[in-house]
Amino acid sequence: MDTDRFAGALLGVHVGDSLGATTEFTSRTQARRMLPANIDDAEIVGGGTFGWTAGAATDDTDLTLALVRAYLATDIGASDAVVEAAADHMLRWMQADPRDIGGTTSQGLRTYERSRDPFRSGVDHGRSQGNGSLMRTVPVALARAHDANRRAAEASALSAITHAHVVCRDACVVYCDLIAGLVIETFARDRETLRGLVASGAADPRSDPRVGAALDAAVDRPVGAVEGVNDAASGWVLTALGLTVAALLDERPAAEVLLEVVRLGGDADTNGAIVGGMLGARDGLSAWPDRWLAALEHHDELTMAARRFADR
Ligand SMILES: [Mg+2]
Repeated sequence: MDTDRFAGALLGVHVGDSLGATTEFTSRTQARRMLPANIDDAEIVGGGTFGWTAGAATDDTDLTLALVRAYLATDIGASDAVVEAAADHMLRWMQADPRDIGGTTSQGLRTYERSRDPFRSGVDHGRSQGNGSLMRTVPVALARAHDANRRAAEASALSAITHAHVVCRDACVVYCDLIAGLVIETFARDRETLRGLVASGAADPRSDPRVGAALDAAVDRPVGAVEGVNDAASGWVLTALGLTVAALLDERPAAEVLLEVVRLGGDADTNGAIVGGMLGARDGLSAWPDRWLAALEHHDELTMAARRFADR
């Protein structure tokens, strides 16, 4: 199996998270001042609202690691065991008092802390359609790249530990389907082929129609024209998914597209993580400049994990 795309996707989450940590919660104007537009000038520098050190993992990478460790600790075993292990890793992370944690993530993990039932802990009402489960779901796509049924079931169940709303669960499923296709198939990465991939995801009858509509709406939109990035919808899971589709269909090099995404500001680290995972699956590890990769706190562990997932 081609380890390159697996590693590109998993490291891409960390690259996007650590680049976007600088511009999280800023306006577009502020974000553009903080990060240069040119890849050769843009560095992972940390800072931002929470004062990150350069290359530090924020919640997006930390919770992605929780899923990575759950898969590897169970030897990519039974679905229920993976969900239980992931919930335990996530809870331990919360108990260590992270600098930044999303509201729905916190609420779901507190319920899990009391009940120890990861299959009923998630928040399931219309106001909890955040991007907090989509940002951690790349390991599902890689661990289950060859098994569409288990991939869908686990993407949904792992989302529902915290984000049980159907839109969040189905967004994770469709995102993982796209990434799995990109890492295992050998089709050309031209725009027409990728559009076809998105169109078949949008037409999936098992998926909530709101998710398909978000995919369709993003297809002909440049990254900078995706709606909601800097307003009240900035943390909405379908804003992030739309941005990801627009980025996937953008024919520029992945690093350039990702840099534009984090320079939009808003929920920049999470959008960066979600888009970074997709673009790394599209273009492979070489998509990311060596100096960005070298800055990442969890570079070695994610590289090793990508190899394990690819070897299956
Ligand atoms: Mg974050």
